[in-house]
Amino acid sequence: MDEKDAGAGVAERLAEVRGAIGAAAGRAGRGPAAVTLVAVSKTVPAERIEAAIAAGQRVFGENRVQEARAKWPALRERHPELELHLIGPLQTNKAADAVKLFDVIESLDREKLARVLAAEMEKQGRRVPVLVQVNTGKEPQKAGVLPEAADAFIAEAGRLGLEVKGLMCIPPLEEDPSPHFARLAAIARRNGLEILSMGMSGDFEAAVAQGATHVRVGTAIFGSRS
Ligand SMILES: *Cc1c(COP(=O)(O)O)cnc(C)c1O
Repeated sequence: MDEKDAGAGVAERLAEVRGAIGAAAGRAGRGPAAVTLVAVSKTVPAERIEAAIAAGQRVFGENRVQEARAKWPALRERHPELELHLIGPLQTNKAADAVKLFDVIESLDREKLARVLAAEMEKQGRRVPVLVQVNTGKEPQKAGVLPEAADAFIAEAGRLGLEVKGLMCIPPLEEDPSPHFARLAAIARRNGLEILSMGMSGDFEAAVAQGATHVRVGTAIFGSRS
């Protein structure tokens, strides 16, 4: 597959997604610059990611440390301006790699991880902003702190030395996501947090309407992950 085939459709889809974000922001009385598009490149090969970079995309999300370690050092060397977010669950034994590889960790979800990350950042002399993942739907199989535990957890993470910049959530698949986005926005507001990472391919416009500052979009840009 040559470079051109590898990137087929990516620039067009990116433009469509950017247009839809801008329109949703406009309907909500917000400027298009109020929302950052995080292009979710999990399972996407580097040549296809290059097509997105060539089309002006700068912020990417990966959900697995191991995959990021394999793909991103080379991409980052070629494109030092990129920003990489960790959006998937993080095991404490991968915390050192995560601090090394990512510019934002969106999936802080428990105290033990907060302690390990704080110690690792201190050790590496690298302060990586974090978002607290909230399990707004209280789904047993899903990561994230429960909504009622969020305020105390945010405060504790701050005491441990982490720079908590915002919140992230993944609403239940089968529910209207808007109330979940609104719940996340309320928690951010009362804790004085500026970043709201919410909304994926199927619901990013609803998320923007509820105040998302970051939307994490994969399949709508890169196509379906087989
Ligand atoms: C995969 C993933 C996304 C992107 O999902 P799409 O439906 O492909 O847009 C967003 N957030 C998280 C946490 C993910 O794991």
